[in-house]
Amino acid sequence: MKAILRIIIMAIPFIVNAGEYNAAEFYSQSADYIVSPQNLMEMKHPFIVEQLKIVEAAHPQIFLREVGQSVERRSINMLTFGQGKTKVLLWSQMHGDEPTATAALLSVYLYFARNFDSPFVQELYKNLTIHSIVMLNPDGAQRYQRRNAQGIDINRDAQRLVCPESRVLKGIKEDINPEYGFNLHNMGGRETAGDGGKLLNIALMAPPFNKGEEASPTRDRAKQLVVEIKRILDQLIEGHVAKYKADYMPRAFGDAFQHWGVSTVLIESGLTDNTDPH
Ligand SMILES: [Zn+2]
Repeated sequence: MKAILRIIIMAIPFIVNAGEYNAAEFYSQSADYIVSPQNLMEMKHPFIVEQLKIVEAAHPQIFLREVGQSVERRSINMLTFGQGKTKVLLWSQMHGDEPTATAALLSVYLYFARNFDSPFVQELYKNLTIHSIVMLNPDGAQRYQRRNAQGIDINRDAQRLVCPESRVLKGIKEDINPEYGFNLHNMGGRETAGDGGKLLNIALMAPPFNKGEEASPTRDRAKQLVVEIKRILDQLIEGHVAKYKADYMPRAFGDAFQHWGVSTVLIESGLTDNTDPH
């Protein structure tokens, strides 16, 4: 699953940048960029802090910054790459028991570092600035639980901002003012995609920004991204990709970001599949 998510995350800059992206080529190399423990349940704060430093040290144009702290004073960290005009913000593991995207983000930045001189990565570097909060909920990750140390679901705290982790995310959004946001999660269970009945690997959604689930230029851009991501993934794992549906939930960050004018996509990746040996 991490391999698939890496492809998506790599695809995002290209789609945003309207560039050509050879997903199959990247997929074939992805085993060289694995940054995760053997058991994803061990994706905890000490592991990522060590890995973040390794990724930062891998290239001078990878920047690591502590952007805040959790309830139990674990650092919350952000990686940045690129000097472009279009800003993208991704965040992973706001639910502590949803570690896949954390591994995917780490490996993508490692890819940027090791392939900095390739035309592929240079193009991204010039056109985009890609910020990623890697593991927003380290206290939850420590316990392998959804909620933070206050017992609050951060993804229901976008309005009240009771959790320090929520305030970090909102604060970064205000600092950066990104055009695009990616809210990265795992889905539980073994859902199937539509009537095809194939085991679902990825579900995508452009969350609504109001109760009427109306269109807006912000949401339209997010929907366009969903279509493009699905088109790329269908070349590799056709039948395993679905569009996700959920009602408007103003307390959820994806919906709130959309409301705040950031074109936001929710990505839910499956925890288990046969496509990824790691
Ligand atoms: Zn989640």
